Amino acid sequence: MALIVHKYGGTSMGSTERIRSVARRVAKWVRAGHRMVVVPSAMSGETNRLLGLAKELQPARLDTAALRELDMIAATGEQVSVGLLALALQAEGVPAVSYAGWQVPIRTDAAYTKARITSIDDTRVRADLDAGRVVVITGFQGVDDAGHVTTLGRGGSDTSAVAVAAALGADECLIYTDVDGVYTTDPRVVPEARRLHTISFEEMLEMASLGSKVLQIRSVEFAGKYRVPLRVLSSFTDWGIPIDEEARSGTLITFEEDEKMEQAVVSGIAFNRDEAKVTVLGVPDRPGIAYQILGAVADANIDVDMIIQNVSHDGRTDFSFTVHRNDHPRVMDLLKQKVVPALGAREVIGDARICKVSIVGIGMKSHVGVAAKMFRTLSEEGINIQMISTSEIKTSVVIDEKYMELAVRALHRAFELDEPAAA
Ligand code: ASP
Ligand code: MG
Repeated sequence: MALIVHKYGGTSMGSTERIRSVARRVAKWVRAGHRMVVVPSAMSGETNRLLGLAKELQPARLDTAALRELDMIAATGEQVSVGLLALALQAEGVPAVSYAGWQVPIRTDAAYTKARITSIDDTRVRADLDAGRVVVITGFQGVDDAGHVTTLGRGGSDTSAVAVAAALGADECLIYTDVDGVYTTDPRVVPEARRLHTISFEEMLEMASLGSKVLQIRSVEFAGKYRVPLRVLSSFTDWGIPIDEEARSGTLITFEEDEKMEQAVVSGIAFNRDEAKVTVLGVPDRPGIAYQILGAVADANIDVDMIIQNVSHDGRTDFSFTVHRNDHPRVMDLLKQKVVPALGAREVIGDARICKVSIVGIGMKSHVGVAAKMFRTLSEEGINIQMISTSEIKTSVVIDEKYMELAVRALHRAFELDEPAAA
């Protein structure tokens, strides 16, 4: 008998009919002898609907008081889900009880709309499990020390589920979603993309941070920190499939690098259009310029991703970096109005039509020439690389966004990701 946490995404909870199949699936696990905690998202579209209503009435400037209300509103989506799922379980003859985040409580900091979980009290949940009940806990939400409802940011239910699993020392956390696992890349772009049976935690972390939308990145960080065995699988298989078959499906996120890992050097290709590039031209090349530019950007609370400084000519250089696309207008204003005049730089230009394409693989630690192969592949397609960044297990490039799909397909082929992995 194991303690298992299931998480169901919005599509899996999308209608009462689907909630009934979730209940049947959970009931099957209960009948197999497991103690079950279930963390569902809001019904699909619900969070958007709620935030849409809020938008009609919200003030132009979202101060703390307004952000607090957004969380109050958005958190209701998950409250409906847990109640419905507990009812559906009871209808299946399975004793079940639902809790909102504050009832557990799942404590968070006070950063409305992007709160972080600080602790989870497991007393109440354990008492219910001991009494033979399935415990259904809201995803996405918590409560701060002053008792205000908070939410964890979009996609936050993944993090709730993993955090609950960590707090309870669960044997496994299964994330049921609308795809059947983690793929070598997005199958909508590359139809030959292949589901990975396993992926290492480090690779998953890179994939999530580089734009693969399968899991919220914080959930992966949590899983790593507390070593929560995590599996991503489909909620659209027939709920009645044999339990061992289900328990082996999807993609398992592993902590052992060697055993059973598919032996590919590159495991996946991530891409996103979330960034924009900024270049400050004609910056006087003297100590402190990086700090003057990026310090001002950091003070404005804007995250910087890739950075490039060129060699200088005649004492002047160009300095480029990328930021999230949402921050692009703000960073351009800041540079034009404050930084460029203060530095005596020539001008600043921006480009939002870029994308970042990355190859990710633990195998890069022990193989040379992987990045070179990436660059060769792109050059054979005539794609110009604007920026490069690397870490131990990934290489990312910034290219013109119009070549994104071409680049991803070419790399997928070049790294033989559409072939089945050799055993
Ligand atoms: N319902 C929330 C959202 O749509 C949280 C989640 O689904 O993970 O972002
Ligand atoms: Mg999600």
